[in-house]
Amino acid sequence: MAQDKSASERMEKIVSLCKRRGFIFQSGEIYGGLNGFWDYGPLGTELKRNLKDFWWRRMVRERDDVVGMDGSILMNRQVWVASGHEETFSDPMVDCRICQSRLRADQLQEKGGRKQCSVCGSFDLTEPRAFNLMFKTYVGATEDESAVTYLRPETAQAIFVQFKNILEVSRKKLPFGIAQVGKAFRNEINPRNFTFRSREFEQMELEYFCRPEEGPQLLEYWLNERLKFYADIGIASDLLHVHKIPPEECAHYSKGTYDIEFAFPFGVQELEGVAYRTDYDLTQHQNASGKSLEYFDEESKQRYIPHVVEPSAGVDRTTLALICAAFDEEQVTDEKGKVETRTVLRFHPRMAPIKCGVFPLLKNNDRLVRQAREIVELLRPHLMVFYDESGAIGRRYRRQDEAGTPFGVTVDFDTIGENGPANQGTVTIRERDSMKQHRIGITEIKSFLIEKIS
Ligand code: ATP
Repeated sequence: MAQDKSASERMEKIVSLCKRRGFIFQSGEIYGGLNGFWDYGPLGTELKRNLKDFWWRRMVRERDDVVGMDGSILMNRQVWVASGHEETFSDPMVDCRICQSRLRADQLQEKGGRKQCSVCGSFDLTEPRAFNLMFKTYVGATEDESAVTYLRPETAQAIFVQFKNILEVSRKKLPFGIAQVGKAFRNEINPRNFTFRSREFEQMELEYFCRPEEGPQLLEYWLNERLKFYADIGIASDLLHVHKIPPEECAHYSKGTYDIEFAFPFGVQELEGVAYRTDYDLTQHQNASGKSLEYFDEESKQRYIPHVVEPSAGVDRTTLALICAAFDEEQVTDEKGKVETRTVLRFHPRMAPIKCGVFPLLKNNDRLVRQAREIVELLRPHLMVFYDESGAIGRRYRRQDEAGTPFGVTVDFDTIGENGPANQGTVTIRERDSMKQHRIGITEIKSFLIEKIS
């Protein structure tokens, strides 16, 4: 119980830091928000962008066998009929007869074999019924059945329906993959746990097409690649769990699925699914569209529908995991011997929204300010820097600690040669985690930082 309390306090602190420092706000907050929708502020947007860019770099640019695409959010309704989403993309929903809450039946706790309302504690619940999670909309001026389509609930289907075009233009041979990052929408019954379960979110998905016999081994390969990715963005392995879905719980077309889970303060929950989906999706679209989605294998001279392994990750969930993993509070003693709590986000420099703070020791000294601004201009084309001249230097450091900025450069009187030539042209560089400082030459700052963040 004590553990639960400290975990929920930790989550409250994280949510409040996110708002206070401009990582994440409620969407349309001045109108009371909209449940399940979030806006990212300046720091959150940078963090999310760093994550997506690094995913793209690892999954597409650094590989010979993966190409990218960017599909539309609304597509012909038949895509969703063929994929099975129109018929079956639903969660079981119950209503509480006492407090009228609508709840996801598979997430309710049971007491004495009966499901309990998570809002009021009553057992008086309706029978579960299927609730389709897709947002329905109309395309064009007439709101009738022929104009219906859905906001995509996953990005993957755009990849499957463009498989043939991309195969032709990229001239890739199996195995090869198509990657996409983009928005997805699900009308979740109970959005909760901050951004973890939202109704609008982003996904980073790869469909990796292969010969049927390669599927099982590629499932293991991609699981390992994805675990390496999480290590490379600074998520410690002890916070990650791999959950192998038992065969009887896998989707009927899956020949193996792993969930990569993260220990959030509110529990261990899925960040990403890695699934071997066989030839199910392409077969569905080939049958429904009447267009061949077969691949001609020049080696075996055979024609067949490729199998696919899909690592499917959530941008928002991983962003939240990065924040939760980075959040730390520690007791520190300042120069005057006063003990205070330092809140720090220990982001990997690669992910940190701001890479370096630049501070003139005093704001009313022209030479200090001019030199600091020159350093900002030197760094700006290469990385995200933040100039701050207001307040005591210790407070400026603390503000950057809370933003997760890994380095701080301070221009002092040594820099401008007022204490003699020994340290002229050097600055102090402070490391966020150790709070240690050392001097380096102005001309070395850029390469020092680039090496740390790339
Ligand atoms: P869950 O069981 O948590 O609803 P899922 O298994 O339905 O998730 P997938 O369909 O496998 O999720 O989607 C792939 C990824 O997309 C998930 O691992 C997650 O990171 C992200 N995702 C799915 N639904 C949401 C959501 N409502 N909010 C934020 N991210 C989501």
